Amino acid sequence: MTTTRIHIPILDMKPEIDELRPEIMAAIGRVLDRADFIMGEDVLLFEQEIAAYLGVKHAIGVNSGTDALVIALRALGIGLGDEVITTPFTFFATAESISTVGATPVFVDIDPVSLNINVELIEAAITERTRAIMPVHLFGNPVDMTRIMDIATRHGLKVVEDCAQSLGARWRGQQTGTFGDFGAYSFFPSKNLGAYGDGGLIATNDDTLADLARMLRVHGSRKKYHNEVVGYNSRLDTLQAAILRVKLPHVDKWNAHRREVARQYNEGLAGVAGIVAPDLTDGHVFHQYTVRVQNGNRDEVQKRLADQGIGTMIYYPIPQDELPIYKGKFSEFYNSSSAAKHVLSLPMGHFLDIHLQRSVIDSITNSLLT
Ligand SMILES: *Cc1c(COP(=O)(O)O)cnc(C)c1O
Repeated sequence: MTTTRIHIPILDMKPEIDELRPEIMAAIGRVLDRADFIMGEDVLLFEQEIAAYLGVKHAIGVNSGTDALVIALRALGIGLGDEVITTPFTFFATAESISTVGATPVFVDIDPVSLNINVELIEAAITERTRAIMPVHLFGNPVDMTRIMDIATRHGLKVVEDCAQSLGARWRGQQTGTFGDFGAYSFFPSKNLGAYGDGGLIATNDDTLADLARMLRVHGSRKKYHNEVVGYNSRLDTLQAAILRVKLPHVDKWNAHRREVARQYNEGLAGVAGIVAPDLTDGHVFHQYTVRVQNGNRDEVQKRLADQGIGTMIYYPIPQDELPIYKGKFSEFYNSSSAAKHVLSLPMGHFLDIHLQRSVIDSITNSLLT
């Protein structure tokens, strides 16, 4: 009898590519026929289609999620001397975008269960320099946008939602990224709606802000060669837009599959001592399925899973306030530091085989027993 060694990467893109290949190749072929590589037909159509999907007035394709955040802040006139309140437990691009425009990120601790910014702590961090709040819907779990908008309105602050991980996630039925002044999305290949390269999107309901963002996207010009401000070269490629148009109609179905994978993990891990599973909150689209491994066992569990062919990741090993460039400005955030030591993201994806998942659950159970 031969036993085949299992191999379950944290994300396997091959099943998606195999399924969509004919449609994607045809879409790429149409772009080649038209040769409209920059701001072509597919960019305009994708912007219309995703605006309708999100239920937002303006969708502006850009080069990356990072650029989406930077351009949103620039359009709001946020820069030197301004403070933006955000979470330390996120990908670097969140805080980086704030620093890029010359403003200062002000971190507040996270909620230990949702791992999102603790909305109860925001008001205490507001100063006379505070201009905006940048919540991150981490791992696809929507932040309480009712509370965020209430705080922002009372203090006259702008809101830029980092939706890089939350495309399709909904807070009380409404799409994340459509509450604040801007929603910023990423189409990095591993995201819930991924391009086959870099890409990003800015969403807004405000006509004036949309106009400013469109201008910043192309060298600060509304009319070619009539540059008004220093902007960016940050357009969404036509080829990526064509690929995204093939994928967008599937995104709700794929997110539903992610939720089902999460539900099965929660069921399978329910009795496992030393593992804290995430809540299956309403509207969560599980960009990542992230458990907390207790008793200092995280790194050992990760190693044992790797030995058995199961890929996992630590998102994120270092909170942003502990990075050398931001360190020393804040006293340690207990929940954020603790999360960095305990989190482990398990294999997840909109094509993850529900049966393969059983081996992941079994391996985790065994790793903790022996
Ligand atoms: C991926 C990501 C970004 C940046 O997106 P890019 O398209 O890679 O520039 C920003 N914020 C968060 C939380 C992300 O996960």
